[in-house]
Amino acid sequence: MLKDYEFWFVVGSQFLYGPEVLDIVAARAKEMTDEMNKAGKLPCRLVYKLTAKTPDEITQLVKDANYDDKCAGLVVWMHTFSPSKMWINGLELLQKPYCHFATQYNRNIPNEGIDMDFMNLNQAAHGDREHGFIGARLRLKRKIIAGFWQDDPVQERLGNWMRVAVGAAESRKLKVMRFGDNMRNVAVTEGDKVEVQKKLGWQVNTWPVGELAETIAAVTDAEIDALIAEYKKNYDMNTDNLASVRYQAREEIAIKKMLDREGCKAYTNTFEDLCGMDQLPGLASQHLMAQGYGFGAEGDWKVSAMTTLVKTMSEGRSGGTAFMEDYTYDLTPGKELSLGAHMLEVCPSVAAERPKIEVHPLGIGGKDDPARLVFEGHPGKAVVVSLIDMGGRLRMICQDIECVKPIYEMPNLPVARVMWRPEPDLLTGVECWIQAGGAHHTVLTYDLTAEQFEDFARIMDIEFVHISKDTTAESLEKELFFADVAWKLR
Ligand code: MN
Repeated sequence: MLKDYEFWFVVGSQFLYGPEVLDIVAARAKEMTDEMNKAGKLPCRLVYKLTAKTPDEITQLVKDANYDDKCAGLVVWMHTFSPSKMWINGLELLQKPYCHFATQYNRNIPNEGIDMDFMNLNQAAHGDREHGFIGARLRLKRKIIAGFWQDDPVQERLGNWMRVAVGAAESRKLKVMRFGDNMRNVAVTEGDKVEVQKKLGWQVNTWPVGELAETIAAVTDAEIDALIAEYKKNYDMNTDNLASVRYQAREEIAIKKMLDREGCKAYTNTFEDLCGMDQLPGLASQHLMAQGYGFGAEGDWKVSAMTTLVKTMSEGRSGGTAFMEDYTYDLTPGKELSLGAHMLEVCPSVAAERPKIEVHPLGIGGKDDPARLVFEGHPGKAVVVSLIDMGGRLRMICQDIECVKPIYEMPNLPVARVMWRPEPDLLTGVECWIQAGGAHHTVLTYDLTAEQFEDFARIMDIEFVHISKDTTAESLEKELFFADVAWKLR
């Protein structure tokens, strides 16, 4: 939960200006903290911690921040000039996300009021440059936000970064449950789990499908009745095959029991290993995703983990986040679109209308006809994100997209569907995505921006590739080439 975390506001200064100036700096820092908390744009509480004047104070504060699980990051600002050699020892120990907030107390320069006293007190313009140098010199992973602290867009950006810093904290605690291995012979869903745990903290482990089958068998009718009532509250029952729907409820309850027992927030399965199960979980996985659990099909644990982290980071927002797969294109010249769907498992948080529960044959896997939710995704700006293992490093690829109302009814397509135009256009976007090695599985979200994924990649120290309206295939190829060289040198 975002509310479980706080951020520490640290204001840089020094003893040079006398106690009166330091008292004013501290009082203003407290006032700014209170006002920003009151404004309601920040998802987590900002806590004024310190007007930093000595190296020892700064080092102690960093040690305290590292140790405090509630503290998800530091927000620092240089109200006056704070000589940055004072910060080196502390910053070398820092293990928490860091935001340099380049602001100032007053919005305008007071025409009559500006004199040498004012200059001594209000030195952020050059204090923040001294601090910027030491960040650059130390190669510190930092977010830099410049702007007047009372402005809504500035607070929103700070809030967006806070969400990502919480995502980083949750990432380091994340456990993923795998039922079965990855789909046979598929490359992009593979990855170095040791490297991923080192970089992102994810504990990715396997549990027996046989144990899940036993847990499914032990679910009671009363438990199923309660979940069916919840399905009926949220979805339209568009099938007479209630037995199939009840079996999905049975699967959902069993999966949730095992996830909660092990403290896992994400899971994978594969249609190639459903030993002892009657259906591939469809509705079950969709409803679990709607509750915040991550899911990846065909054993794709990377996309599963990212799905739950994105849901954590976007808590309280209403656009929606889903496991997604690029399915097929509509290639009308000049109006090209991509159709995203999956065999079953798209999260209903992205639905434009009330989803329908339907039962249809699956065609692969050789199991009973599974119940699933069928709906259209809603229009709006969104991103698709893929995490791939390049061998020796992870690459996160994020593409801006514009979702549209699907241009066809597709009455015989028995699954949830989302249609979008990728940036800069479908054909260039596809060339860039393929050039970068992006997977067919993605997390699609309306609730976070590419800037936030870049912030996440920076905090976790992984490669980031952004395909935007300004990307060309030529520029991207060069960027990837130079990035490859740079990452190999690290
Ligand atoms: Mn798939």
